[in-house]
Amino acid sequence: MIIAVDGTLASGKGTIARALAEAFGLAHLDTGALYRAAAVALIDAGGDPADANAAASAARSLDPASIDETRIRTAEAGAAASVIAAHGAVRQALFDLQRSFAARPGGAVLDGRDIGTVICPDADVKIFVDADPALRAERRWRELVAGGADVTLDAIAAQLAERDTRDAAREDAPMRAAQDSILLDTSRLSIDAAVSAAIAIVHDKTKAVPVR
Ligand code: C5P
Repeated sequence: MIIAVDGTLASGKGTIARALAEAFGLAHLDTGALYRAAAVALIDAGGDPADANAAASAARSLDPASIDETRIRTAEAGAAASVIAAHGAVRQALFDLQRSFAARPGGAVLDGRDIGTVICPDADVKIFVDADPALRAERRWRELVAGGADVTLDAIAAQLAERDTRDAAREDAPMRAAQDSILLDTSRLSIDAAVSAAIAIVHDKTKAVPVR
């Protein structure tokens, strides 16, 4: 079984995808981490995220096993990831890796922006997670502050709007809900309620029963 979880920034899609993987005994890939790690490697090497060739080369050299979780989770890494993700050559460089992950025998959950539309168009279940932008900004701001970052809520709200617009407007694999996806709005849901709703969507669609 392949489950595609796409959605907007700080909508809860990562938490939901991880919980679905756990519940149904599937492997999980956070595809945003790949774009973030490629962006961090590019910047470390003195490259410019606007440079498509340099960004694609950083993406091709990416070793998913050596991603530094702390370094990729900053607001700067997220912003740079969104810039390099607009280059078709970068998306191409990360395509096979995502496809082969999805094709693993036990099945998988992938979360990102284009999983249901481009990476796994034949996924068994497609969920698009979204929430009110003001609530998403507040969630992301709380996470960053809890991690020690010195950022204002206004700055995060502005970055979120900028990234949503860039991700949805790019020509290559723009963020959008696949036609056959099910929308999960987490604005008024606790984490537990959002996860339960996602599990119910998977069960309704596939009759699969959670193993945990
Ligand atoms: O989900 P996350 O915030 O970690 O993703 C960082 C950036 O990577 C996104 O803003 C988006 O531009 C890009 N991305 C993408 N396609 C994916 C996953 C992430 O373009 N499948």
